[in-house]
Amino acid sequence: MNRFSYMRAESIPEAVDRISKNPTARFIGGGTNLLDLMKEHVTRPTELIGLSHLPLKQIEETADGGLRIGALVTNSEAAYHPLVEQRYPLLSKAILAGASQQLRNMATTGGNLLQRTRCYYFYDTGTPCNKREPGSGCGAKEGFNRIHAILGTSEQCIATHPSDMCVALAALAAVVRVTGKNGERTISFAEFHRLPGDTPHLDTNLRPDELITAVELPREGFARHHTYLKVRDRASYAFALVSVAAALELEGDRIQSARLALGGVAHKPWRDPEAEAALTGKRPSVETFQSMAQALLRDAKGFGHNTFKVELAKRSVVRALAQASGLEGLS
Ligand code: SF4
Repeated sequence: MNRFSYMRAESIPEAVDRISKNPTARFIGGGTNLLDLMKEHVTRPTELIGLSHLPLKQIEETADGGLRIGALVTNSEAAYHPLVEQRYPLLSKAILAGASQQLRNMATTGGNLLQRTRCYYFYDTGTPCNKREPGSGCGAKEGFNRIHAILGTSEQCIATHPSDMCVALAALAAVVRVTGKNGERTISFAEFHRLPGDTPHLDTNLRPDELITAVELPREGFARHHTYLKVRDRASYAFALVSVAAALELEGDRIQSARLALGGVAHKPWRDPEAEAALTGKRPSVETFQSMAQALLRDAKGFGHNTFKVELAKRSVVRALAQASGLEGLS
């Protein structure tokens, strides 16, 4: 049995102070992933710091025309909020593609960013896993790796990030607001999650004493031309094999700007600004989108069971862009 204590923080400074004094403590919001990890003995915190009383449950407009979503806003509240539905429907759709209604009612915005990989070996403490136990090896590389990464992998780890919401946030160029002992700072979404490299036990660039307080969306929401495409083994309550958040700004018959993020293929939502920029000024067409897909997946590499994902990802990119642009035939 793992013994742990529980305390409920009554303010943000109290929460930050408490975690900075105990490196084996963990914040708990909805607990939808953390409790699984504790039950499986993957994570063994000595103390849980409850966040439910903190004033982080608001969705409000920012001075520059964007939107701030508090870290304790539940996934359901975010997905069904009128401002999210109207101005950032890509985010709403991505959230609703994930988990189940019950889980979305509990899971929080901050927690969604911090959920950990669903690699089977990570959850099985009888097998080697560099993410769970640095230096122990990787059970997935030579094992059953159907759900694993094809981009940005390392010798140490080939896990994927499981979130749908984060794929949309990456495409929308969100910013993560955090508070720690040294004050507040913001982290761009592209910099928030890490690739595994030699440190697969670190999922994010959040410092140990930092608390996520909000996610901020810029003004541009790509409300008119967007798609969240999720390809998975079951029609509901399954993680993505490949997902694509596609957002386009069209002017006349030309693409003015494009955003594309992939889920289920890497240790973080995968974006390639160079490949996106190559779409600027082009007419939407299957051929253009196929070139984009080739560029985006140029370095993709499978590990046996997941090699099918390389072609699946290319086709998913083309389909998502066709849907977002309203191209007939593929949408
Ligand atoms: Fe662990 Fe990563 Fe290997 Fe999975 S892929 S077993 S999480 S090191």
